[in-house]
Amino acid sequence: MLILVINAGSSSLKYQLVDTEAKKVMAKGLCERVGASDSFHKHGIDADERVISEYLPDHHAAINSVLRALTDDDYGVIDDLSKIDAVGHRVVHGGEYFDSSVVIDEKNLEKIAACSKLAPLHNPAAVEGIRACQKIMPEVMQVAVFDTSFHQSMPQKAYMYPLPYELYRGQSIRKYGFHGTSHRYVADRAAQFLGKPLEELQLITCHLGNGCSLAAIDHAKSVDTTMGFTPLDGLMMGTRCGSIDPAIVLYLINYVGLTSDEVNDIMNKQSGLLGISGLSNDLRDVRSAAEAGNDRAQLAYEMYSYSVKKHIGAYVFTMAGVDAIILTAGVGENCDRMRRMIFEGLEPMGIKIDHERNLQKSGERVISTDDSRVKILVIPTNEEYMIAQDVKHIYQELHNEAA
Ligand code: ADP
Repeated sequence: MLILVINAGSSSLKYQLVDTEAKKVMAKGLCERVGASDSFHKHGIDADERVISEYLPDHHAAINSVLRALTDDDYGVIDDLSKIDAVGHRVVHGGEYFDSSVVIDEKNLEKIAACSKLAPLHNPAAVEGIRACQKIMPEVMQVAVFDTSFHQSMPQKAYMYPLPYELYRGQSIRKYGFHGTSHRYVADRAAQFLGKPLEELQLITCHLGNGCSLAAIDHAKSVDTTMGFTPLDGLMMGTRCGSIDPAIVLYLINYVGLTSDEVNDIMNKQSGLLGISGLSNDLRDVRSAAEAGNDRAQLAYEMYSYSVKKHIGAYVFTMAGVDAIILTAGVGENCDRMRRMIFEGLEPMGIKIDHERNLQKSGERVISTDDSRVKILVIPTNEEYMIAQDVKHIYQELHNEAA
């Protein structure tokens, strides 16, 4: 099956054309600065990448540009659009409406649009992308895959905030959690890697990229996660602060005299690794500086690893056990120094990192010692593949029902 995976952001649109049988990415690319006069479209894989300079006033134009590139006589990978069996759309917020991926009909699209108040930068872009695809490819099945749906299994004690209950009922204020597609993918892979059904495992998955979150996965169900009502909550991240005393926000507004927009900017764009190191949100830069003796870069490392360690500890207790801890995304997959610091000192708890294995560079791998009671795994995430898999299953179910 050929599945087009679309990830529409507020001013960008990423895509991959996935052949699910061959498990191969046929083409991929990215439209950037959608809506601005200097928009462009990068299409192709690695050395074959080309930049198509094109004015893309909106997501409809971006989708048109993508479909033209996929069918281009010169560098396209399919003869015509009828070769695409289905489209999978990454949607950031599904609110309480969706606990799994769904076929997009008018009712579901209305619900996705209704979640825009919870994800004002992302959901409107997804809706625009979906409408554009529906218009250009009216016969092709469209599926929505949500960042939040995997975490809908959390028990109420985990997803409620101790605020007045009416704020949950009236304003939908609760923990939703994000990165669900990534947590689900690496948990599935970990179960296969360990040779056990996911339903028999207790896992903690750590998605450590620019955005960071942990999930506690108990017998195949997400039972807690560190991101909350928004992706700002939880761990310290590249530029986001994660959990802080909420009274700091009031103090900055009422006593320091900042506007709410300024505070928002500080917490989302000027904090985390960048805010503490004063250098960069990219851990590679922070690492070079820390190794050269920069104290603030070293502090950023210590705070980040401490934040991950602390939340792992919380989930070991709340699940009353853990079989494996999985690291993924840019930092989790690549930074041996951070991994070492996260697991440092946990040997008495039966969590033992193997320092040689920790230096291995690529692929799915175990980095704990053979006698570690808890396995530590590094599993590269692949959200697009997971989206394509969901689309394939839904497509096959519908076609089997029809047959
Ligand atoms: P996103 O959340 O944007 O998808 P990624 O998962 O690609 O982010 O992670 C990006 C981050 O991964 C970079 O900002 C950088 O901090 C980190 N990273 C990538 N490679 C390395 C590396 N070799 N060493 C340390 N950090 C790395």
